[in-house]
Amino acid sequence: MTRMTISLLISTFFLPIFVFGQSFSEKLFQSHEKYKETSLKNRRFKHADIVPLLKRLNPPFVLTKVGESMEGKAIHLVKIGKGKTKVLLWSQMHGDEPTATMAIMDIFNFLSASDELDPERKSILSNLTLYFIPMLNPDGADKFRRRTALNVDLNRDALRQQTPEGQILKNIRAEISADWGFNLHDQSRYYSVGTSDKTATISFLAPAFNYQKNVNAIRKRAMQQIGLMNETLQQYIPNHVAKYNDTFEPRAFGDNIQKWGTSTILIESGGYKNDPEKQFIRKMNYLVLLSALKQIGEKTYTKNSIDGYEAIPFNGRYFHELLIRNATITKNGRSYILDIGFKQNEIQYDNNRSFYYQRYISDLGDLSTYHGYEAFNAEGYTIIPGKTYPKTVKNYKKLKRLNLDKLHQEGYTVIKLKKLKPEERQLNTPFQLLNKSENQHFGFSTGNNPSFFLSKNGKKEFLVINGSIKKL
Ligand SMILES: [Zn+2]
Repeated sequence: MTRMTISLLISTFFLPIFVFGQSFSEKLFQSHEKYKETSLKNRRFKHADIVPLLKRLNPPFVLTKVGESMEGKAIHLVKIGKGKTKVLLWSQMHGDEPTATMAIMDIFNFLSASDELDPERKSILSNLTLYFIPMLNPDGADKFRRRTALNVDLNRDALRQQTPEGQILKNIRAEISADWGFNLHDQSRYYSVGTSDKTATISFLAPAFNYQKNVNAIRKRAMQQIGLMNETLQQYIPNHVAKYNDTFEPRAFGDNIQKWGTSTILIESGGYKNDPEKQFIRKMNYLVLLSALKQIGEKTYTKNSIDGYEAIPFNGRYFHELLIRNATITKNGRSYILDIGFKQNEIQYDNNRSFYYQRYISDLGDLSTYHGYEAFNAEGYTIIPGKTYPKTVKNYKKLKRLNLDKLHQEGYTVIKLKKLKPEERQLNTPFQLLNKSENQHFGFSTGNNPSFFLSKNGKKEFLVINGSIKKL
């Protein structure tokens, strides 16, 4: 054999690995922008925003209206594929949990396209028949709230079946006799992976079907498949994957659907730093769902043990939004060392399309086992509570006339305005702005939202306003 034939052999042997060796998930990661549904840019989209996206789907997609929400909004089923294995995916049964709905719209765009990913598309659509119910709770989604128009938690109505939305889900699953189910939710952004300093960006669960948490063949498959999905995600969000609480909930859909004979996988989208609108987490959903569909179709999971699933750490709740450590607070002439944690609520306006953040003290004391999206070590700093400026200012524009630096030096952190627009609360103002009549609870207690300075050697160095810290 000449050297040339050897090198030729080597190159023909190795070349395909370099060219075709890219995994499906890598291809999905790199091409997501191309398929991303650009009309959905943030979490507060509505039923009316997704209906046109469904109506424009062409064959081989089949769109069916399968019922209506309590307020009369159409709930749709989207079917595609010709395979023997039936997979049902439903999203947003909780109205304020929309991440997977965005990913499903991206998946529709992916499946509609034709390009170099055709072999993977073909594999999915020839092995599986896919059934999607995007946005199962449109009434809740339109208000961006968890519950249905009946004000019940749809995920506690699997047995009693009082909500039209719950009846739709139960009936569809039975009608198609789904082999697999994907129950798609969002979870708190304050969940951590175990006790670690990593947020639980994605949490999985193969829900239990009884209090004993037995593993039968149906649940085992879900566990095997989750093991593969965890491996996929570890490449993109290492150590940010957890397992959801596996206590059996007899009223919940995931638990019952598992019990009814459909291998069920819960996916919970949590938090990720610098991704407040969850657009990166949307991409993770897209990537892990499509990868999973290919694996289910090709039965890759059968070779996987459930050990990988068992090894995923459970969700912990060890995150705060901001964590100020070791600050000194003085009360009645005595000094105390405190850690202060802040979390945030989203206060909605503009017909639930917009919001501003309102932060509050979530915990106080020794928080040394906790973590923050942002953390600050205030060792050696003393808390100086801020004061409210005694004059009411007419509006936001008039703030400019004040010498804000001087007001800080005089100890003011709060300014009341005669008229404060909701969007003005989100502007980066170094003061806590309130409406004239508004009362804020400023004390250092949980639930309150005090603003204060952190001072060292008599000099105010940092300012904490609405739970966020700024250098002065
Ligand atoms: Zn949920």
